Amino acid sequence: MEQKFDAVNDINRSRSNWTIKIRITRLWESPPYPKTCPDNTIDMVLCDKDGSKIAASVKSVFANKFKNNLKEGAVYIMSGFNVVASSSTFRATRHSYKLNFQYQTRIARADDDGSIHQFRFEFVPAVKIISGELDQNILVDVIGRVFNMSEVHESSSSDPNSMRVTIYIEDTDKTQLAITLWGQYANQIVQYMSKNSESAAIVVAFQFCKIKEYSGTRSLSNSMYATRVMINSDIEEIRQFHQGLQPEDLTSPMNRTGHITMTTTTPQEAAFAGYPLSSVDELYQSGDKAIVCILANVIQVNKDRGWFYNACKKCGKKVDPDGPIFWCHSCKGLVNQATIKYRVELMVLDESNSANVTIFDRDVFNIVGLQAPQLHDEHSKGMLVDANHTVNWPVKLDSFVGQTFVFKVAVVKSQWNDFTSFTVQRMTSDPSIIDKFTRYRLAKVDLNATDGNLITADKAMTSPIIDLEGRRLTFTDDANSPSTATLSSGKRSIDEASYEGHSSSEAAKQLVMPKKKIKIEKN
Ligand SMILES: [Zn+2]
Repeated sequence: MEQKFDAVNDINRSRSNWTIKIRITRLWESPPYPKTCPDNTIDMVLCDKDGSKIAASVKSVFANKFKNNLKEGAVYIMSGFNVVASSSTFRATRHSYKLNFQYQTRIARADDDGSIHQFRFEFVPAVKIISGELDQNILVDVIGRVFNMSEVHESSSSDPNSMRVTIYIEDTDKTQLAITLWGQYANQIVQYMSKNSESAAIVVAFQFCKIKEYSGTRSLSNSMYATRVMINSDIEEIRQFHQGLQPEDLTSPMNRTGHITMTTTTPQEAAFAGYPLSSVDELYQSGDKAIVCILANVIQVNKDRGWFYNACKKCGKKVDPDGPIFWCHSCKGLVNQATIKYRVELMVLDESNSANVTIFDRDVFNIVGLQAPQLHDEHSKGMLVDANHTVNWPVKLDSFVGQTFVFKVAVVKSQWNDFTSFTVQRMTSDPSIIDKFTRYRLAKVDLNATDGNLITADKAMTSPIIDLEGRRLTFTDDANSPSTATLSSGKRSIDEASYEGHSSSEAAKQLVMPKKKIKIEKN
């Protein structure tokens, strides 16, 4: 008969005779304490068949008794611990208690029938890390596609622990997150990048990372010893993530050749890289499924369009009420509970025209700083307090008005009528990105000036620059010169974009600082 074991989740200080069957999902050693002790201390994360995890430690003084019998990944039956409260900073589990090995602790290898998770990841959405709602004392797991990587810093070439690199990942919700890796962890990813030159997406699973906060911005870094990094490994979690990737994710800007030496493009810039800058008026002339960037000012929030929609808790897609419950078109089933997500329509304007664009959950969250359900709660409370003055609109959403953004817009033309919708895939008010787009737009506006006020420092430059009129300017994600503008050849061939023996990239360099070359005299 199968022996009954205690559930890890039940462990507390009320008794001491707990017997558990667990897998050591993670084991790491750290320097001896006290320092005079010959053996390292050993720390572990134990997981039972229910997926509950608890931390366990072997102090240096007992390490010699246990160290040869404890193997990461193996399954054991254990008993006779000292149960203590878990209160240190940077804890690997959320369990209120941890297990300290003592002299009378007993361990025995058990058969591994595969019923206990190998790693027991508990991935959290990056948005929860960024929003600050997670306890920063507890290490977190994330999974995502690497889309950018900083240059490698090494303060001492003789000390591998001084190596540092920041990688940028995008999770399943397309939220972007920076993770700074040090020492062996930095080395692990740099080695992988240099040895694997295939163009497939790189998916990385991180376990037990620290949440770092720096001037209000949160990112992750590895913990000294506990963190586990798995890069495109043959495990179910990474396979599933690969399967969920869209074709655009496979070709989007991860510069695989330049990143080892130097990549100065920020993740924000990468998101906007390679897309043509258009005027708002050009939005209406863009083809179905075109993706273009516009630089525009928000003149109003279209309140009559509402600000949220009901979303499936499982897949995050829109659900429709079906009696007291909901129908999810994506899951093709009824769901009992729905959450809400942001969907806000903005009227935006540049000097050419205005348009209504729809922005979604993450972009609204980035500006408002609250998740839709939180804003809903906050707003509802406010309405109770102020019952006579019912405003069915959270004023926080008005904070868009008057702001200038670069919007990356997907154009969708209806099959049934001539209606065209503009969906914002990403937006930013990052000054450096706005500045880039502003410079290129100034170049276009200046080039369109025909009232004779065009003054150029070098008349010879006039002709080639005017030749560029009407062609779209884009950024490329060239790691060596991220701020260099190049011409999008669009539907033209590269040859057509060349002229007078200049290559298109040479022509583009002449446009990098258009303000220096072209001035309009003020009357
Ligand atoms: Zn669903």
